[in-house]
Amino acid sequence: LIRLEGVTKRFGDNTVLDGLDLSVDAGRHVTLIGPSGSGKTTILRLLMTLAKPDEGTITVDGQRLFPAPEKQVREVRKKIGMVFQQFNLFPNMSVLRNLTEAPVRVLGLSGDEAEARARELLDLVGLADKCDAKPTRLSGGQQQRVAIARALAMRPRVLLLDEVTSALDPELVAGVLDLLRDIARSTDITMLCVTHEMGFARDISDQVLMFDAGRVIEAGPPEKIFGDPKRERTREFISAVL
Ligand code: ATP
Repeated sequence: LIRLEGVTKRFGDNTVLDGLDLSVDAGRHVTLIGPSGSGKTTILRLLMTLAKPDEGTITVDGQRLFPAPEKQVREVRKKIGMVFQQFNLFPNMSVLRNLTEAPVRVLGLSGDEAEARARELLDLVGLADKCDAKPTRLSGGQQQRVAIARALAMRPRVLLLDEVTSALDPELVAGVLDLLRDIARSTDITMLCVTHEMGFARDISDQVLMFDAGRVIEAGPPEKIFGDPKRERTREFISAVL
């Protein structure tokens, strides 16, 4: 479903991704782990078209995302949802409106359709009673649940998760991770996660990719990567974070 080929991204003379090849099949849950600064977030940002590669191609669901004409980029982009570390909710809109805004504007749903979908999703994430609240009145964990529901409201094929629990108080982490586990189990959505939560990565991933300096240095099922990594660098990283 997602294919990156020969993707290079530089910031000045810092080569963050170095000829990266990566592919994720439909319905799979793939987790990116690796040291800070190894380029994991950059991959998600390229897929969200928040940044452009310097070289290489990106294809999603058989359609080119990069390089591609603007109109096509907008079409492909609709298939991808992202949840950020810092929630990034619209602070001046109610929780409900946070979920209806893009489906109405971007997908052209009617207000009623968007609202029905939004209420269903808020129910799913356990916040049906917060429709009218402003996001700033919610806890971090609740805000992150709204952000997850907002991403799902667009019915994306792909959900990108960028360290979604790292800004949360420790007691709120488990609830958000449980919700994501449920979504992974009960939907056919393709997930690409960057996380430092190794337990979560082990639970939900079909495949774990270990990054170092802009390259995948080891890839495999979680039991292999966490239980019996081949590379010394992976071993070191895992023992440092566990
Ligand atoms: P972390 O776990 O800390 O988020 P990461 O593996 O996700 O790390 P990236 O956020 O992808 O790493 O960043 C990789 C490198 O790219 C870092 O050296 C970072 O400083 C650099 N970088 C990222 N975004 C920019 C930017 N907009 N301008 C300049 N440098 C950037």
